[in-house]
Amino acid sequence: MRKRVLAALLALLLGVAAAGRPAHAEKTSGVGYYFDTVITLTLYDAEPGLLDELWAMCKGYEELLSKTVEGSDVDRINRAEGVPVAVSAETMEILRTARAVHDASGGAFSITLAPVIALWDFTGGTNRMPTEQELAETLPLVDDSRIVLGDDGTVTLPAGMQIDLGGIAKGYIADKGAALARGRCTGAVLNFGGNVYTVGRKPDGSGFNVGIRDPQGPEGSSKYVLRTQDGTVVTSGIYERYFELDSVRYHHILDPKTGVSSMSDLASATVVCGSSMLADAVATACIVLGCRDALVLLNSLELDGLLITRDGEAYVTPDFIEKWQLRSV
Ligand code: AMP
Ligand code: MG
Repeated sequence: MRKRVLAALLALLLGVAAAGRPAHAEKTSGVGYYFDTVITLTLYDAEPGLLDELWAMCKGYEELLSKTVEGSDVDRINRAEGVPVAVSAETMEILRTARAVHDASGGAFSITLAPVIALWDFTGGTNRMPTEQELAETLPLVDDSRIVLGDDGTVTLPAGMQIDLGGIAKGYIADKGAALARGRCTGAVLNFGGNVYTVGRKPDGSGFNVGIRDPQGPEGSSKYVLRTQDGTVVTSGIYERYFELDSVRYHHILDPKTGVSSMSDLASATVVCGSSMLADAVATACIVLGCRDALVLLNSLELDGLLITRDGEAYVTPDFIEKWQLRSV
């Protein structure tokens, strides 16, 4: 009996000590390159091997979802010439979300843009853009409503059409990374380019600060900072991949109606919520829609968002500032 009382006392004391733990923790971090994106993973007090597991996860999803990896689900769908293809449950989940955001955004988010995307070169230095004729030939292939998502786990894409999950896949992977890290470290910041997922807390017990880039500023500059605990902050911006010609910025987010970079008034769109996959697709759609319609979309989906126009004006959904402790920097 006495032993049990002593054990209980000891446990209580240890508990108190842990609660008042000093603000330092074992930090593990690494940088990798997957999905054409620099990925930075930071973990606090992580279980041994967690970082390696996260990198292995990235590699696995690249092999499943990349358009350019032979034998990936996306590659097999794109080469099937109209024949149904059996895909993993994970690919199907992404395709169903893509469909939902396509429909909710009136087609602003379209994964069937792939044949048009292939006509552009935003980063290779050639500044390649499609001719009028090329656009006339490929735009009829942009129509997500023609993708058949079967209840039997197959996907059927009409011959000639292609899909590209570049606007949504990183979000899905961020969600899976967060699920892997949750409970196996005291805190994590998983940064997949524009998709940031934070898990747990900082060593001092507070939430994480996430910077929102100044679209007009240099890489790494922040215009705002917000605070999250367990959740995702996803930003799409017209500064990520682009070239300029005759004072026009041609960037990597295309308007599915025209096949040309979105010329809307938005320079960046940030979505804060629990699902990085959903936030990823919605942020991309917002850039195409422009400020007014993007706010309508965010409100209809009950998502929190911060929109920055090309003029540098910021617009937020109701309560955003208080909820996410948004501040200028
Ligand atoms: P994000 O950086 O998440 O905004 O996604 C941009 C990427 O998604 C591009 O590099 C393309 O691969 C693809 N993409 C471009 N425009 C669209 C669009 N309107 N809908 C869906 N995906 C798009
Ligand atoms: Mg996106």
